[in-house]
Amino acid sequence: MKKPSTEPRSRISTNTKKKKNREFVVITYLFVGMFMLMMGYFAYFQIFRSEDFINSPYNTRQNTFAEHVVRGEIRSADGKTLAQTIVGEDGSETRYYPYGSMFAHAVGYDSNGKSGIESFGNFSLLRSHAFFLEQVFHGIQDQKNQGDNIVTTLNYDLQETAYQALGENRGAVVVLEPDTGKILAMVSKPDFDPNTIEAQWDSIISNTDSENSILVNRATQGLYPPGSTFKILTTLEYIRENSNYQNYSYECTGSIAMENTEIHCYNHAVHGMENLETSFAKSCNTSYANIGLGLDKKAFWQLCDSVLFGKDLPISYPFNKSSFVLKENSNTDEVTQTAIGQGETLVTPMHMAMLTSAIANKGILMRPYVIDHTENYKGVTVKNYRASQYGSLFTQEEAAKLGEFMSLVVSEGTGSKLSGQSYQAAGKTGSAEFSSNKSESHAWFTGYASTEEKGTIAVTVIVEKGGSGSEAAVPIAKQVFDRFFTM
Ligand SMILES: [Zn+2]
Repeated sequence: MKKPSTEPRSRISTNTKKKKNREFVVITYLFVGMFMLMMGYFAYFQIFRSEDFINSPYNTRQNTFAEHVVRGEIRSADGKTLAQTIVGEDGSETRYYPYGSMFAHAVGYDSNGKSGIESFGNFSLLRSHAFFLEQVFHGIQDQKNQGDNIVTTLNYDLQETAYQALGENRGAVVVLEPDTGKILAMVSKPDFDPNTIEAQWDSIISNTDSENSILVNRATQGLYPPGSTFKILTTLEYIRENSNYQNYSYECTGSIAMENTEIHCYNHAVHGMENLETSFAKSCNTSYANIGLGLDKKAFWQLCDSVLFGKDLPISYPFNKSSFVLKENSNTDEVTQTAIGQGETLVTPMHMAMLTSAIANKGILMRPYVIDHTENYKGVTVKNYRASQYGSLFTQEEAAKLGEFMSLVVSEGTGSKLSGQSYQAAGKTGSAEFSSNKSESHAWFTGYASTEEKGTIAVTVIVEKGGSGSEAAVPIAKQVFDRFFTM
């Protein structure tokens, strides 16, 4: 009998086994590889992309996050609740703003889209760092976790003071802490009540005139002619070009004729003999028109370029870029108008507050920020946001010199309502013509004040159609300074 050979069979079987093993190995590696890729993507998404993803207004999955988390609170630095979500017995959620329109543009709204901190803080508000076991427990019970809270740099008392002081006027007030960049207050009017914005929505968006929209945050998006506040930069350019600037003299007769226009001093004042300091302190337009005629246009443009005209501002809020358009072939009318802050130059109140803060902070601009830290709903800190330098806008000597000039505005010029206080103030007023109708002007003040004990704050005020800076804007800034230094 022929012995059945098992050899080939066993060979076949071994081959099959090897093949199967190989398939098994390939599949295993494939799975491991896919798993690694997924985990990698998951980690990448968690670490790098999820913030963009949750914050994107186009992301319909925001709702998915909101399905699992009750939106966290937004608070002032001094412990006031500025926004919270109230959960009804039936599980319905209502976003509630206890101070209504007072924080409208700073905090924002959360229906029909989002704005302000509600928008750029969305990620934190929809994440929960509630304790792990609590989250597991809620997961099993199909209950929501409590989202993290945002604690802002906003000071309730300063915001209230600025809000009341601006009154029924249109305009904006910005209060910054120069050595950190903290936004202490930010008011914009006209405003809205975020509690009722949903009901008002149709009428709000039916107003297609963006300049008049109550949704515009005038502090960061309002573009205004800077008027005489711009003389801060004209002065700096003159100092940079003329090391003997102490020798400057000019006799103001109340007006100066240009090619096609005549520049006159505010209220047709005649200032007489002046040097650079008194020209600045009295805000003499004719002297500054004279100064402008001698400036190097290219260097002036470069200065403005270096202090963020035409540039993005380093802030989280939506903003408009300030503009400065002087060219080498600009005519004398354009040059002199630009030197006194008129012409084509436009600036936002926030930008002006940043320039002022840099002067108060030895030339260094700190990035303005409004989220101080986030914490879980029990108050355990999740993330701290720290002050960061944007860079040096002015040398320390330049900042000190501009500070001296701005002190003279208070001690003997248009800011005299701020003299003789418990704090040392410095600043610049402005009355900016904004249309061909020269009888109307926006009132500006930008400046800072300090005491040994409390440190320094910078305040920028614009009152639309307010008239003169010294009459309409300085008293508002004074109320903010008074409040801060008596807190
Ligand atoms: Zn004058």
